[in-house]
Amino acid sequence: MGSITTVLSISDYVITGTRDEGSGIVIAARPRRPRRPRCPHCGRRRVWRHGSRTRRVAHLPVGPRHCDLELTVQRYRCPRCGHTFTPDLPGIRRRARLSEELRSFVNFVIVTMGVALRRVQDWLKLGWNTLWRCLADPPPPSLAELRHLCLDEVFYREPRRFLTALPADVRANVETLATDLQSGQRKAAYACLPVAEVCADCFHVMRLARRAVREALPAQKEATRLAVRQLRRIMQTKDQPGFLDWLRDWQSATGSLQRLHRTLEQWQLEIESYLTTGRTTGPAEALNRKIALLRRIACGYTNLDNFSKRISLLNYSPHPER
Ligand SMILES: [Zn+2]
Repeated sequence: MGSITTVLSISDYVITGTRDEGSGIVIAARPRRPRRPRCPHCGRRRVWRHGSRTRRVAHLPVGPRHCDLELTVQRYRCPRCGHTFTPDLPGIRRRARLSEELRSFVNFVIVTMGVALRRVQDWLKLGWNTLWRCLADPPPPSLAELRHLCLDEVFYREPRRFLTALPADVRANVETLATDLQSGQRKAAYACLPVAEVCADCFHVMRLARRAVREALPAQKEATRLAVRQLRRIMQTKDQPGFLDWLRDWQSATGSLQRLHRTLEQWQLEIESYLTTGRTTGPAEALNRKIALLRRIACGYTNLDNFSKRISLLNYSPHPER
């Protein structure tokens, strides 16, 4: 049979009282079975009781209200070496201001549920740095097995621009790089990754094609629609000879279809690479969507280190195989 201490995740303690402090609740408790410890300095087994002290730590909130534990801790004195000491408490680190349960709860709310740190701070009445320290350190990225790259840009603060730099030995292993149809990104890819195969992203190609249909004049609408339908089938079935035929067939097109044709001709090599390898910028787009959401939830970040730590904690890889 469980008890209220199980519900409150303090089953190693006995509740001795509760108190309402207006904004929050205080639960007074003491450790359930305080075994007489050994002296940490000389290892003597028989130590004397030496008064007690209270320690206050933040614990899991009770609904919308924050909750503190007020723990009565027995102190001991060693008759051999004369040191006084306080034994460790179950579920609470030495000198910590919050319980381990709360620490993992904060990590869950901020990282998994994606709640802004400031909101959690208002709710739990804890310091910003205390909460920040609850977040686990992100796993270091493993670059050794990096073979496929997706290139996309992400916005941090308007006037500043940052570049991800990869060491030369990592770059040498990269086999494919997927990018959207931006000539600057393509130029950078060819300059930095001489051995990599650059692929044009399928979604961005089709987006251009849809725009061509939208912008076509009424007289050319039907022909443009037909061309885009053919292009979609080629991209879906990864039909490489079909793509060359398409470029040849629509060479004399006019209007918006001509513009599309010209762009695709400029990107012919990259689109052919896509049709062979099937690499897209999908994973990068998915991650960027998550990052944009993160930034909006927090109403922007002023500290780049904090922002990058939060991004690393996303650890988001929806399609690890791509
Ligand atoms: Zn001692």
